[in-house]
Amino acid sequence: MRNVPSIGFSMGTDALFWKDPYQKEFEAKVISSNGREVVLDRTCFFPQGGGQVGDTGFLNDARVVDTRKDAEYNITHFLEKESAFRGGEIVKGRIDWERRYRIMKLHSAAHVVYYLMIDVFGENCKLASSGIVNEVKDITDYLTDSFDRERLAVVEKKANELITKGGEIRTWSDESKPNYRYWEIDGFPKMPCGGTHPKRLEEIGEITVRRGKKPGAGKERIEILLKD
Ligand SMILES: [Zn+2]
Repeated sequence: MRNVPSIGFSMGTDALFWKDPYQKEFEAKVISSNGREVVLDRTCFFPQGGGQVGDTGFLNDARVVDTRKDAEYNITHFLEKESAFRGGEIVKGRIDWERRYRIMKLHSAAHVVYYLMIDVFGENCKLASSGIVNEVKDITDYLTDSFDRERLAVVEKKANELITKGGEIRTWSDESKPNYRYWEIDGFPKMPCGGTHPKRLEEIGEITVRRGKKPGAGKERIEILLKD
C-alpha cells in the first residue's frame, strides 16, 4: 500500500473503484475530518465526475450524502450530519451498492446508445455535452440537424440487441495518468470515460431510450432508463 501522510496534505486518495468497481465495503484510515467532510487514504466511494454523480452510503454509522474530488484526486465524503472522526482512525465504509450498480449499468448503456445514435442519425449527430447519469436515468444532449421518433426507436432496438447479445466491457487507466480512463466494447472504437462500469453488456438488461425536453435549437435530449 502507498504511504500517505496521516493528516492534511495527501497525494490523492487510493481509488478502489478502479481496481474493482463491484467492491461495496472497505476499511480505510481517516486522513482529515472537518465536521461534515471526511478524506480517507482509500475509498470505494466514486466522486462526482465524467458526468456520473457521486456515491452515497455509510462511513461507520454516519450517512454519506455525496462524494467529490479535487484536482489532485483527493476524495471528500460529505456527511449528512457533523461527525467526530479523528485523523488516523480506521473506519468501515459501505457504498449504497444498489444505487451505484444502477448508475454503472446506465452509464455503459449511454455509451452504447452514443455509438448507435451516430450510426442511425449519421455523422452530423454529435455530443452537445458529456451528459449526466444518476440512478434513475442518463441524460445526454446531441447536436443534430434531423430527428424523428422512428429512428430513435431503431436506436433503442439496436441497443437492446447489442446488450442482449452480450460481451465484455473493458475499462482501463492511461499509463501515465491513472485517473484518466477508457471504455471499450467489441466492434466500436475505445472512448475516454472516467466513470464506473459493469464488466459485461448483458448485465445492463433491457433499456428504454426516449426523447427528453428539447434543450435548445439544433439540439435533442436523449434519456435512457433501465426497464426493471
Ligand atoms: Zn462515460
